[in-house]
Amino acid sequence: MKILVAVKRAVDAKVKVRPLPDNSGVDLKLAKMAMNPFDEIAVEEAVELREAGKVDEVVAVTVGPLKSVDTLRVAMAIGADRSIHVKTDAVVEPLGVAKILKTIVEREQPDLILLGKQAIDDDANQTGQMLSALCDMPLGTFASEIDLVDGRWLVTRETDAGTQTVSLAAPAVVTADLRLAEPRYVTLPSMAKARKKPVETIELETLGLDVAPRLRVLSVEQPPARKAGVMVSSVDELIEKLKNEAHVI
Ligand code: AMP
Repeated sequence: MKILVAVKRAVDAKVKVRPLPDNSGVDLKLAKMAMNPFDEIAVEEAVELREAGKVDEVVAVTVGPLKSVDTLRVAMAIGADRSIHVKTDAVVEPLGVAKILKTIVEREQPDLILLGKQAIDDDANQTGQMLSALCDMPLGTFASEIDLVDGRWLVTRETDAGTQTVSLAAPAVVTADLRLAEPRYVTLPSMAKARKKPVETIELETLGLDVAPRLRVLSVEQPPARKAGVMVSSVDELIEKLKNEAHVI
């Protein structure tokens, strides 16, 4: 059994991003970058499945510039066995990433493809869904538990109404939600070990795919500043304000 995990280099979750002065995008020139948090959870889960003896190999894949190799190194420090870097300096939208991942899936023939539920930079929440459609594979989104039972992936999904458990034939595409796993702390020795693990580089152009952007960003703006809050001294006062000032109850 093999798991392919897609990891994206994104702006660090703790960085407060600001729009560029011309509102054409977000200013990331000096921003700290890191692995997308949901992808870290996906890698951790894949490694835990291998440690439990259910899976033989975990392969990390990323699409991005040279610096994205740092993200692959973190995935291998968590425990991925090897990595694939699809190298490009272009901004690739979810549909483009899904097309690229499909070619990697065809080459690697994994039994499970794990992605984050969404990237915290574009908040698209699209790549996993598009990949499953392109590969014609079963899909489990927002996973909070994954198990391998009789050769099928048993996936517990977070839904608005609670949780839902689905049994997916392998190979399947699954996207990770927050509660799926708790990423381990990456130690210096594990980073040193990760440096010795193989990273295959594929130039995006050699794949012959159309990944031209379909979207045009019209404007990126700061949300309106929130008004200062009010401290109330009792529940009665809160109810009175909600009723007569905010008119929400
Ligand atoms: P998105 O659809 O952009 O919100 O991203 C959902 C998930 O797709 C991410 O959590 C990653 O697992 C994967 N993904 C998106 N972009 C990339 C990329 N450039 N390289 C590798 N994986 C990606």
